[in-house]
Amino acid sequence: MDVLNYINGTFSPPSNNEWIENYDPATDNLIGKVPRSSNEDLNQALVAAKNAQKNWADSDIETRASYLLKLSEKIEENIEELAFLETRDTGKPINTSLNIDIPRSALNLRFFAEFAKKQNTELFNRNGFENFVERSPLGAVACISPWNLPLYLFTWKIAPALITGNTVIAKPSEFTPTTAYMLSKFCDEVKLPPGVLNILHGLGSEVGSAIVENPSVKAVSFTGSTRVGKLIAKTCGEQMKKVSLELGGKNPFIITENANIEAAVSTAMRAAFTNQGQVCLCGSRIYIHESIYNQVKTQLIEKLKTLIPSDPKEKSSRFGSLTSKSHFDKVNNYLEMAKRDPSIKLHLFDHNIQFGNFISPALLENVPPDHAINQEEIFGPIATLQSYSSEDELINLANNTEYGLCASIYSQDKDQAKRLASKIEAGIVWINTWLERDLRTPFGGAKASGFGREGGNYALNFFTETKNICIPEEK
Ligand code: NAP
Repeated sequence: MDVLNYINGTFSPPSNNEWIENYDPATDNLIGKVPRSSNEDLNQALVAAKNAQKNWADSDIETRASYLLKLSEKIEENIEELAFLETRDTGKPINTSLNIDIPRSALNLRFFAEFAKKQNTELFNRNGFENFVERSPLGAVACISPWNLPLYLFTWKIAPALITGNTVIAKPSEFTPTTAYMLSKFCDEVKLPPGVLNILHGLGSEVGSAIVENPSVKAVSFTGSTRVGKLIAKTCGEQMKKVSLELGGKNPFIITENANIEAAVSTAMRAAFTNQGQVCLCGSRIYIHESIYNQVKTQLIEKLKTLIPSDPKEKSSRFGSLTSKSHFDKVNNYLEMAKRDPSIKLHLFDHNIQFGNFISPALLENVPPDHAINQEEIFGPIATLQSYSSEDELINLANNTEYGLCASIYSQDKDQAKRLASKIEAGIVWINTWLERDLRTPFGGAKASGFGREGGNYALNFFTETKNICIPEEK
């Protein structure tokens, strides 16, 4: 399937006729071509987005919400096809696409449509004056998303941007462009006004950075690596442009002496290896109290034996392939690093697939806290096991990273769990669970995991300029 840009309500090939090849990472087969968009495509998208913005902002929220709801319904009606395409682009198990990625994409659009309608104007009365808060859209804004949760994160960004009256220039990852292309077809079918959503495909270093650098783009909502996040922060800082950065993670998963071990082991495996470890929220450093270390380790390894890579398009698959050859090489380097070090103990059960980008999940022991494997975001199915003896030691270990996205704590002692949660430097802490999300809550990270928060009102605030208007109260 060849993918086209969606500019001003029209499907267009790249103006320079340059294309990128798109491969199925589970088979290495060529799937199709993706536009390698250039500045000329961006300029067309910007003209369209600027022209469409006033009418879109002037339309009432019911109208904007109705389009988001129609798009959400289209996703639900086409769930099987979208799940197949998402799995073919990413290598993730079809079950994950069917039950997590695609339903959540539909929910993102529905949630923001309904949530935004329920918001009331903030009012403050004091000393005979009334203050109210007006929110106005920013203009044409950029939404740039990564390859690990393609349609899920794409919709998570465009929904709040659109509902607040902005027009959007969105760039999905060139590794996983197909479901965003399908969404552009749905925009056409529901007759979304031309120019409201423009989808440009291409390379991050080319059209991605051109979008960020363009002064007509009024805000950038970015999800991706900390490396690219820093470049974007610099450009936006120079232009005083609003920016939201959802970046990498190196998250601790904590199993205390008071944990329900069975539940903790089961969730630790899910947290470490969901989507082959390619989730920013994966728990890749597992800390276990020394009194239960051996017991927990034995159970984790038993479960590891059952997590065998297999064809992600089969419904029985629970563990697929990594999403690209370049990412496979990166993850494999860390595995080789571990294999070369005789002090590191590696638990890994080899698979026998001879093609594609499959890596068996691995648990590593004896990795020093400052080792690259414990410090750098691998973004693959590699997690370390470490024992600790006191809460102070645990907190030092858990916070010993430049990242601060999330953490999970397993403890049946709620006081202990809450005490630990308060001391962990992270934007989200789960107690006795992982990845549970209420879309109204703030989502984002501390330290090098980014700044700004998404979700609920946090996202609506990001995509609007808030203005305080003060007026004497009527007597
Ligand atoms: P990435 O290389 O930073 O790319 C993310 C997106 O930005 C892609 O669309 C990419 O296009 C584009 N891009 C690259 N360079 C750019 C530039 N100079 N200017 C503008 N855009 C640019 O990240 P990734 O490898 O796709 O994704 C994995 C990373 O995302 C991990 O670090 C993961 O933790 C993070 N992530 C964070 C969250 C969160 O919510 N905190 C969620 C999911 C993933 P190309 O694909 O063409 O390079």
